[in-house]
Amino acid sequence: MRRLRNVKIVATLGPASDDYETIRGLFEAGADVFRLNMSHGDHSEIAARHAIIRRIEKETGRPIAILADLQGPKLRVGRFARGEEELKEGQTFRLDLDPAEGDARRANLPHPEIFAALRPGATLLVNDGKIELRVRDCGDDFAECEVITGGVISDRKGVNVPDVVLPLAALSEKDRRDLEFACELGVDWLALSFVQRAADVEEARALAAGRAFILSKIEKPAAVKDFDAILAVSDGIMVARGDLGVELPVQNVPPIQKRLVHACRAAAKPVIVATQMLESMVDSPVPTRAEVSDVANAIYEGADAVMLSAESAAGHYPLEAVTTMNNVAIEVESDPTYRELLDAAATGSKRTVADAIVSAAREIAETTDIKAICCFSESGTTALLTARERPKVPIIALTSKIRTARRLALSWGMHCVMTGEVERFKMAVVNAVRAARSAGFATEADQIVVTAGIPFNQPGTTNILRVAPCEERLIFNTDPE
Ligand code: PGA
Ligand code: MN
Repeated sequence: MRRLRNVKIVATLGPASDDYETIRGLFEAGADVFRLNMSHGDHSEIAARHAIIRRIEKETGRPIAILADLQGPKLRVGRFARGEEELKEGQTFRLDLDPAEGDARRANLPHPEIFAALRPGATLLVNDGKIELRVRDCGDDFAECEVITGGVISDRKGVNVPDVVLPLAALSEKDRRDLEFACELGVDWLALSFVQRAADVEEARALAAGRAFILSKIEKPAAVKDFDAILAVSDGIMVARGDLGVELPVQNVPPIQKRLVHACRAAAKPVIVATQMLESMVDSPVPTRAEVSDVANAIYEGADAVMLSAESAAGHYPLEAVTTMNNVAIEVESDPTYRELLDAAATGSKRTVADAIVSAAREIAETTDIKAICCFSESGTTALLTARERPKVPIIALTSKIRTARRLALSWGMHCVMTGEVERFKMAVVNAVRAARSAGFATEADQIVVTAGIPFNQPGTTNILRVAPCEERLIFNTDPE
């Protein structure tokens, strides 16, 4: 199975998408990566979804990336006796450490460290900033607030405290348990929420101990400020626009998105643009024009992936949301302006042999009639360098490591194929030809570019490029050993 676009689609799973049929439907409609949100659902539900995805991967033979999103030091109110309450402007509302269910006068906020850091006059934002509270009085275990902007507050809604620096650890006890659980389950990516500094990423990486790749969610002002250092120690980035647009003025988000997407491409690391991309599709089978434009613009910017959150996890139209993204992507990518924008944003660096080879592969593919760039990549590094080139022809990443194939499923343009371990370059070319032909990228009459590193199975050795015919007989007649 192949996709007809380069940008990848990340679909968050949740109550609206936790059975085999729905997840299979999302995959077939275009989801390349599934996000398991550790903030919701217990471990047995997460494990069940994981098993369904792996089953679909096995049935279809297409490597699928699974991303476990750790809640991080996200603050949330407790539950309400009636599930939700409406807060009116001007009323008082109390937050405290009492675990009892909330009502229209008070709610539990189970974070003693917040009460310690709060001061009268501080602002608290609830439910993505929809409700604004101002602290009037506070102590070690409570805050009496005035409701500045009212709205509906309900179970486990998020709380942001933008103007107070909170002395929070990067990973809570729950995050550590979830991280260990997700790594043992065998997820490919861990997303870290509310990263504030590079050290947060390094802490998670040490705990993951090579079992998963680390994706940093940029959703705090501190992370935007320290972005270069965070990118340097991360394997991927998420522009987490939901919390970012609460913690910072919302109009700051588009320029930050552009800057981050560009920097990630330069670093050859995948970047996801996330949150509210098709928000109205939670309740509607069709998106707004503005949402379609937003998805399209992220693709024009050159993002590796666009993401669905509530649309696929809790909405009424998960399948329609994935289909919409898929259709928008196909349309954008066939627009000549898309190509112009990608080429204009190219950040080519030719410092290493691998850089030069991937760049040559793109040039050859674009000046002659080449159907695909096939790159043998054990660690995934050369494949990522190839994706950074944003070539016009499909990239087929061949690897003997399923971990690498799944990791790369998040990256732009990557069609991942498992091969056995190859020892001779001639066999590599034969494998590449078979992969290109069986997925329908090339026919017998076509040519492909193959890149590899000799000796095989040593990361970082890419040193060979070959233009190969797609007829196996020709390979055996013309190829050097
Ligand atoms: P969340 O992260 O959905 O886990 O909050 C994404 C965002 O904040 O945009
Ligand atoms: Mn967030």
